[in-house]
Amino acid sequence: MFKIRDYEPVVGGEVIDELELFASRLSGKVIQNVNSTAVGGGVAEILIRMIPLLKDIGVDARWDVIKGDEKFYQVTKKMHNALHGGKVNFTQEEIDIFVETNRINAASMDLVGDIMFIHDPQPIGLVEQKIKDQKWIWRCHIDFSRPDEFTWNFLKNYIEKYNISIFSAPSFARQLIIPQVLISPSIDPLSDKNRDLPQETIERVLEQFNIDNKRPIVTQISRFDYLKDPVGVVKAYRQVKKYVDCQLVLAGGGATDDPEGEKVLAEVQEAVGGDKDIFLLLLPPASDIEINALQRASSVVLQKSLREGFGLTVAEALWKSKPVIAGAVGGIPLQITNKYSGLLTHTIEGTAFALKQLLQNPDYAKRLGENGHEHIKKNFLIIRHLKDYLMLFLSLYHQGENIVYL
Ligand code: UDP
Repeated sequence: MFKIRDYEPVVGGEVIDELELFASRLSGKVIQNVNSTAVGGGVAEILIRMIPLLKDIGVDARWDVIKGDEKFYQVTKKMHNALHGGKVNFTQEEIDIFVETNRINAASMDLVGDIMFIHDPQPIGLVEQKIKDQKWIWRCHIDFSRPDEFTWNFLKNYIEKYNISIFSAPSFARQLIIPQVLISPSIDPLSDKNRDLPQETIERVLEQFNIDNKRPIVTQISRFDYLKDPVGVVKAYRQVKKYVDCQLVLAGGGATDDPEGEKVLAEVQEAVGGDKDIFLLLLPPASDIEINALQRASSVVLQKSLREGFGLTVAEALWKSKPVIAGAVGGIPLQITNKYSGLLTHTIEGTAFALKQLLQNPDYAKRLGENGHEHIKKNFLIIRHLKDYLMLFLSLYHQGENIVYL
């Protein structure tokens, strides 16, 4: 694991000095993070990197994961889809499962943080245990631009018991009686997923998966989730394949809190059929080097999401100076300015058009990737994120000072 001073060459020594000063003001405070999965998906990805860095600068940061059975994760996945605008109805039994699982977790966990930092809806009900003097933060990683009314109102009752809420993009801000702050997620430039790789490692990974390094590679890395539209990616690729002899890599694994993955994967397998130039790769957890190599080997990276909280995969690819074509949803437009640092699309046809354009214009594609890299470097690296969190923690004890609420 890295130390905070390892980031000096990337961000400069003064930034690190400032972080250490902030951290010293939090001395004696326990920051307890709670989410619903230790592996898979963007939330775990960030916590894995963030917690050791917080500890290294002297903050007593902890991380717990709630437990739930299959029924609970079916309900929370349904909730996730509803918050992303899907039409769903909840039965009383489902609501009871949600409430009861939160209650059971609350009873078995030590909720001892001075600051309780709760991520996403799954553990949101823990706030019922809030005691005087504790500060509770609800951190939303979801695209909240068009939530289902019932689900929103259900969650709102919990959210308003928190001291403060965090959203990833301005368009997710809601009407709430508690303050809301905007903090975007980030990637870690030193992690195995993002650090520079020797060319031999990239070649080895391509060989491992039998991918041809002579023809263009188009890649989407993501969980098999309807909202990432993997079948739409296959369709867009097919339209382009008539003009450019490219290969498609769809690589992803599951997350322990996402029960829908297998069904989506089966649909993608059917869409792929016997196409030898489509590589459907099921990656085990901790495939960071493989993901890094696949992104670096790509001519174009896709993230054809239909809804998206932030889309770390976009930042990861842009960091590697790759041209990215992505759905114009959620936090993606914060990362891509259309035709400047990538291309934003709304449809399968639009994605196919953009893909053909980039594969046929490598200079233009290169320029988009370079601009994208600069944008990520300035705005979406972990040190900026760490500083935002430290300032937020401090603001909870000095309300009104040095913090801009939405
Ligand atoms: N990821 C991974 N293995 C996979 C699929 C995704 O490690 O098989 C990583 C991906 O590189 C990114 C994160 O999981 O860091 C996904 O975050 P994102 O915000 O793109 O989407 P989410 O899964 O949170 O909706």
